[in-house]
This record gives sequence, C-alpha cells and structure tokens, in this order.
Amino acid sequence: MTTSVFVSGATGFIAQHVVQQLIQKGYKVVGTVRSTEKGDRLKANLKSDNFEYEIVKDIAEEHAFDEALKKHPEVTVFLHTASPFHFNVTDVQKDLLDPAVKGTTNALSSIKKYGPQIKKVVVTSSYAAVAPPIGVLGPEFTVDETSWNPTTLEEALSSPGLGYRGSKTFAERAAWAFLDTEKPTFTLNTVNPSFVFGPQVFDSEVSATLNTSSEVLNSFTRLSPTDDVPVVKGGYVDVRDVARAHLHAFESDVTGFRYLLSTGPFVGQDIIDVIRDNIPQLKDQVPKGVPGSGAEEIKKLNGVDNSKTAAKIGPFIDLKKTVVDSIEQILAVNSK
Ligand code: NDP
Repeated sequence: MTTSVFVSGATGFIAQHVVQQLIQKGYKVVGTVRSTEKGDRLKANLKSDNFEYEIVKDIAEEHAFDEALKKHPEVTVFLHTASPFHFNVTDVQKDLLDPAVKGTTNALSSIKKYGPQIKKVVVTSSYAAVAPPIGVLGPEFTVDETSWNPTTLEEALSSPGLGYRGSKTFAERAAWAFLDTEKPTFTLNTVNPSFVFGPQVFDSEVSATLNTSSEVLNSFTRLSPTDDVPVVKGGYVDVRDVARAHLHAFESDVTGFRYLLSTGPFVGQDIIDVIRDNIPQLKDQVPKGVPGSGAEEIKKLNGVDNSKTAAKIGPFIDLKKTVVDSIEQILAVNSK
C-alpha cells in the first residue's frame, strides 16, 4: 500500500521541495495550507493526483490539526514544517513564539489523539535551536547535533531576530518534552538547518520578495558596484538537501536524532566571489570587495561538527551550486 505522508505548512519554501520529493518517490501527500487559493495553486504546480490539501488557517489555535487528522486515517507519517520565519512582527509572543511552540504541541497532541496509526514524526527545527546567533560564540567553540541554544524567554522577547531563534528553540524543546511526558507511540526526529538557499521548486514562486532565507541571495541581485559587501554570515545548506533529510528522517530507522544541516560557513564576500566568477550578467553589477578574503572572516566564527548527520545523508550541495542555481532562477524569471 502506498504510504501517505502529512505535511504541515505545505506551501512553504522548504515544504514545497519536501512535497515534490515525496511525490516523485511515489508517496501520497496530505498538505496543510492556510487558504483554498494557496492549496489550489500548489496542487496545480505539482500536477499530481497524489497530492491533496486540508486548510489549517492558524497552527497556534488549539486543536488546529484535529479535523485534518480525523479525515485522514491513512497517514502514517507526519512532517511538521509550518512555523513563522520572518522578522516583520510587532508582538514576538503572539506572532513568533505562540505559532512555533503551540503549533508544535498542537500537532503532537492531535497525532496522539486522532492519529494513533502515525508512527513517525519529523519536526523542522533549526540551527537556531542549536546555537546562539552567529558571532556570539568564538572560534574556540564547536557545536554539534547535541548542542542547544541557551536563549531565555526574556532574551527572545527582546527583538524579532532573537524572538525567531527563541521560537525554534522552545518549539523543539517542547517536542522532545512531549515525548518524555506523553509517551506517544510515534518516534521523533528533527531537522535543524542553517540558512537554507537554493531555487524555489517552481519558477512561479519567484516573486519580487522571497521567503526570508532566499531573500538573502535575492538582495545580492539588487546591489550596485559602489555598495558595500553585505554583512551576512553563517552556515548554509541547499533546500534540496534539507528536503532529502526530511525523507531520510522517516524512511530510515533513525530515531531520536537531530539532523544538523550546515554544509559549510559563508560570509557575504563568499557569495560575491561565487557571483562574480559564475554569473557574467551580475559580474560588474555587484561590489568586488576583496576576493578570497572570506576565509579570514570565517576563521572568527564558531565551528560546526555535523559529521554524524553527514555520515547518514552526505554529501551535500556546495555553496557555488546553491548560489548559482538560486540566482540564475531569479534572473531567468525576472527577464521574462
Ligand atoms: P516559509 O515562510 O516559506 O514557510 C513557512 C510555512 O509555515 C508557510 O507555509 C506558512 O504559511 C506556514 N505558517 C507560518 N505560520 C503559520 C501559522 N500561524 N499557521 C499556519 N501556517 C503557518 O519558510 P521556510 O520554508 O524557510 O521555513 C519552513 C520551516 O523551516 C520553518 O519551520 C522554519 O523555521 C524552518 N527553517 C527555515 C530555515 C531557512 O533558512 N529557510 C532555516 C532553519 C529552519 P503562509 O506562507 O501561508 O503564511
């Protein structure tokens, strides 16, 4: 029998790749979306009878997933990807922490109550749940799959940036705590990506402003030669690898694991260098900076040891490919 997989937040940048990979591998998918319009659009793009959607307008509402799960007793896997990832908020508690934390516990509670046949759950967490903001830890520190961001509620409430990091930390902690206290019959893995780059799964999703992590690269296409090299730094991973990790997290017999996805570190200069070396159309539009100087800046960042994750699902797409594929898609769509 074909396995049916439930994907919350199916219209998201990462989730669309997850859904696409699931469909390509022959799974049936029930995705949650926030409106009929968004669901129909995704269904039209996927062109597959194996995709259907249910409306879950707000994952923070109690019992948000109950009805969708009651309707789908055939699903045996639940991938919880939905969570706000943007900094355009006025109320950190309401706009970031609640949907992340309550969204996660609502999903797990509904599964326990209305989806006893669901045996595998994967929660999309983040590198943000693993470490404090980049630059806080010096190069003498190395984080790995067992590390936690020590952020407090007070810090999280102090700004949207720290609020997002807190939202992912508290939501993931709540998921593991649910396992301890509720003893459900499903197993859990989390996927913890750093900055996720790579193309949108469908060209039609390329708009003037993209999802938060894709917008980082989109902003490089708007630079002029006299601008400073953008100050951005961290770890990166390609969205196609992130989607692959979600599939591995339920297809394999791995349980209780955090897939820490950080292919390597980067700073703004590294992106500039990739653009200037590989995208002729932008070569003279972006600032030159000091080519090759990224390596020195990276030496100041904390290390990331994700060798346990790499042993399971490596190798990963490198910076050159993820940047080139992302930007070439943007340029191609914008030139139409
Ligand atoms: P997107 O913004 O593209 O996707 C987020 C999804 O969650 C959208 O489908 C959105 O729906 C949905 N969503 C948000 N809030 C709610 C809510 N209150 N009720 C119902 N649905 C909601 O972001 P990404 O694809 O980048 O992120 C997906 C996941 O990956 C998130 O959990 C994010 O924290 C995590 N992540 C992302 C990283 C990245 O660099 N992209 C890095 C690390 C983790 P809608 O668009 O309709 O509002």
